[in-house]
Amino acid sequence: MASDEYHRRTLITRLTLRSSEDGQLLHDTIEEWLDGCNLASGLAWNECHTKSDVRELAKDRIKQDTKLGDQHATLACHEVSGAIKSCIERRKNGKKASHPQFTSRTMAYDRRTLTVFPDQEKISLTTLGDHSRVHADLCLPEGEDGYQHEYLDSDEWEYTESTLHYRDGDWYIHLGYRTPKEDETEAVTENGTVLGVDLGVNQIAVTSTARFFDAAELNHHRREFEKTRGNLQQTGTQSAHRTIESLSGSEERYVKHVLHSVANGIVEEALDHDCDGIVFEELDGIREDLPDAAWHSEWAFRKLKDYVEYKAEFEGLFVDTTSPRNTSKRCNHCGFTHEDNRHAGQFECVSCGKSNHADYNAAKNVAELYLRRGHQPSGRRSVSQYALKSGARTLS
Ligand SMILES: [Zn+2]
Repeated sequence: MASDEYHRRTLITRLTLRSSEDGQLLHDTIEEWLDGCNLASGLAWNECHTKSDVRELAKDRIKQDTKLGDQHATLACHEVSGAIKSCIERRKNGKKASHPQFTSRTMAYDRRTLTVFPDQEKISLTTLGDHSRVHADLCLPEGEDGYQHEYLDSDEWEYTESTLHYRDGDWYIHLGYRTPKEDETEAVTENGTVLGVDLGVNQIAVTSTARFFDAAELNHHRREFEKTRGNLQQTGTQSAHRTIESLSGSEERYVKHVLHSVANGIVEEALDHDCDGIVFEELDGIREDLPDAAWHSEWAFRKLKDYVEYKAEFEGLFVDTTSPRNTSKRCNHCGFTHEDNRHAGQFECVSCGKSNHADYNAAKNVAELYLRRGHQPSGRRSVSQYALKSGARTLS
């Protein structure tokens, strides 16, 4: 969908940080961001201005010379591309414009680098590097003044991108939301298909086509490993320490091997069902939903998703994500959403009585909510249905 096919709104709110260390980290991140933008601006000025050209020219240098992670380096290039384009516009209109300098304490975020948790009224922001994150609470006004809830609590409005601001001693976030314009949704005529995937602890992955990738063996290995490690730690000798290290190495290799085969299976499943792409939940929410799992580290899910992306690209499939919000609480049959619908591994709808495996219900919701929230893969044919065990469901 082109950008003019969406209504767009910005939700602005002050943030409460959890510690002064977090504040310092955000300051440091903005410092690196400004350095990155100024570096790219210096390189690209009078050379190029499209997003892809600036990226090609400057992204590696930003990663080399600053502490920004991969996605922030990309976003910095896009920021510079926009700034140079508006300089060119100003010059066309006969105004003076010189090479863009970045000084105001503002930086751009997107869905990869900032996650919104509407239920908890908080966000998490990537800081320096790819894996360090800061959580911050949204200071929302009470009652009717809280227009922000209209976007935060809605399945129709989808968070897209945002900017972080520091002014007068406070941090603010401007969250961009969008929703597809009504008549355009019906204009979607091509029936591209997605496969929904739910990730979890007892099942590593379940697809909307009811393929289950069981975690029992992985969990068993993991427990054995923990036991051996516990024994060795009690021994406490240097050689025991070395054995623990080599065990950790082989444990990691084993987990990677399992994740590779699950990734293969997911991509096969998408191809078998003539899908155009594969949809996961955004990963940041998953970690919070699963506090007790033994091996469920965000690391493992992230690896699995990386493997799927890698294999999917070879097959010409896209991979995208949607917010984990409501995917496990919503009845895929009637749409009723309530936390009482779910009891551990079993799902039984309080409203229509339909019951199902909870992760399978969730996998179908991942695909369905992806479509309902108006997500579309960029630069491809549009998608309007998702694959089921037999056939596909088109949203009406
Ligand atoms: Zn129901």
